[in-house]
Amino acid sequence: MLLRLSNLFVRTLREDPAEAEVPSHRLLVRAGYVRRVAPGGYAWLPLGKLVLDRVAAIVREEMNAIGAQEVSFPSLLPQERYEATGRLRDYGPDLFRLKDRRGAGYVLGPTHEELFTLLVKDLYASYRDYPVTLYQIGTKFRDEARPRGGLLRGREFLMKDAYSFDLDDEGLRRAYAAQREAYIRVFDRLGLDYTIVAAMAGAMGGSASEEFLAPSPAGEDTYVACTACDYAANTEAVATPAPPAATDVEHPASTVFDTPGTPTIDSLVEYANSVATGGRTDWTAADTLKNVVLQVGDEPLVIGLPGDRDVDLKRVEAALYPATGELFDDFSSYPDLVRGYIGPQVLAKLGIRYLVDPRVVPATAWVTGANEQGKHAINVVCGRDFVPDGTIEAAEVRAGDPCPNCAAPLEIRRGIEVGHIFQLGRRFADAFGLDALGPDGQPVRVTMGSYGIGVSRVVAAIVEQHHDERGLNWPVSVAPCQVHVIATGKGEQAETASRLASELTSRGIDVLLDDRPGLSAGVRFADAELLGMPVVVVVGRRLAEGYVELRSRIDGSRSDVPVGGVVDLIS
Ligand code: ATP
Ligand code: MG
Ligand code: MG
Ligand code: MG
Repeated sequence: MLLRLSNLFVRTLREDPAEAEVPSHRLLVRAGYVRRVAPGGYAWLPLGKLVLDRVAAIVREEMNAIGAQEVSFPSLLPQERYEATGRLRDYGPDLFRLKDRRGAGYVLGPTHEELFTLLVKDLYASYRDYPVTLYQIGTKFRDEARPRGGLLRGREFLMKDAYSFDLDDEGLRRAYAAQREAYIRVFDRLGLDYTIVAAMAGAMGGSASEEFLAPSPAGEDTYVACTACDYAANTEAVATPAPPAATDVEHPASTVFDTPGTPTIDSLVEYANSVATGGRTDWTAADTLKNVVLQVGDEPLVIGLPGDRDVDLKRVEAALYPATGELFDDFSSYPDLVRGYIGPQVLAKLGIRYLVDPRVVPATAWVTGANEQGKHAINVVCGRDFVPDGTIEAAEVRAGDPCPNCAAPLEIRRGIEVGHIFQLGRRFADAFGLDALGPDGQPVRVTMGSYGIGVSRVVAAIVEQHHDERGLNWPVSVAPCQVHVIATGKGEQAETASRLASELTSRGIDVLLDDRPGLSAGVRFADAELLGMPVVVVVGRRLAEGYVELRSRIDGSRSDVPVGGVVDLIS
């Protein structure tokens, strides 16, 4: 492919766009890769589209390599599918919703678990059909509260979403592991620096889940990384045990308050104290308490494991609002719930007394209660102040806090979430009754995983990690063209540049040729640095002696090479 700058649909800008806060946004607009067309909506210009397609192609190759099969769904989806799983509610205002001319409700798909589950149910019936993994690369819509950073957080963006279907937990673990390996290959090939962190399950509500975070100051995720072992976790999930080990983690016996009736604040404080100061200093993630105990009405209600955030919202909801089930309609006021677990603010708002083991977030315990005793309890137990409106801020992990694995100090870093893998389990299969008929004629409930990569966000993440003050600096694997050819003068120089460009192209190398008339060498060099192709060939004055200059955008090196050998050298 030969692109000529004389007619390429691109305009480079000398000035930064006013609204751009982060380098990728600034540079991709300045270099003419994307243009903003709506809040959180971007048009891809030819150079940008090439990069996006290259990223998608790498993702596609690695998905195909593990046997995932590509399909494609519409974005306009019947609302009732998302009602059936409760996600119309869970996603809340993040969902774009609309009505057709008959008044039927639709959503613009934010992610497609429901539809994939139904498709498999539609076509597969027997255990012999499984396992299967399907994926698509398509546009997603989310009405983000704060679209920002250009491509980093769009309201319309490109995602690869894959879904695995298995008959048993072991199958799901295998499918998850295959995706994880594929992600490692994808992000390696993309030239991204990344860390795999333990994650919470978000609105998906599953158990095992990891995120691929690309370290960058522009990232919106904060994660902790151990300075001694390989423990890394999203700060929202600090206590989540590190990726499943070969043997199952042994949890100590569930700690359930067996106090008849309501456990008192005193008993909670006493317990929290005994855990917080009980003389043990050798806590590990495996010691995370089994249960969070809520007191609802007369009955202590045990909901899930803080370690894996597997809180059963339905049980809480049913217990609190048995008649209406209307508890969580307004999700904007329960930010923690949207993330799929019940956090301290939510519990405080609901007026629920509870106790979280302090080891869930190192050195922190929460006991809530709107009375004086409760406030006192918090200050004793947490060493933190009770917030006057009766809520407690979610405790933050701090740099230097002990690693839940090995107790060495933790570091806090920022990253961009470029990928996310989940073991969903049977939540969606339960919602739609997805069963396979087993060999004995009995139905087997299918178990699922879902696996996302933010393809458009990846483009921005690559730029965040590969740029300097002069412009973009693409890894070879995703650059729109591998080579940028410049002639600094007319006549023989321009003709040679054009000939070299054709020769490189005929060897299968994609070339951008600066054949614009009447520009200074300085302007051409500045544009080459802004546009960011990995190799620049400069045909200049030394052509008279038979030399051209080869510049590497990646490491900044320059060398003169004989004009006759440059094509061989590059290809
Ligand atoms: P975030 O925490 O950044 O809001 P998410 O956890 O809501 O992302 P997932 O539901 O896990 O996102 O979606 C899978 C992938 O899609 C994410 O890992 C991310 O790379 C990408 N993605 C999610 N939201 C956006 C967005 N608004 N713009 C661009 N990419 C996105
Ligand atoms: Mg999100
Ligand atoms: Mg996230
Ligand atoms: Mg996510």
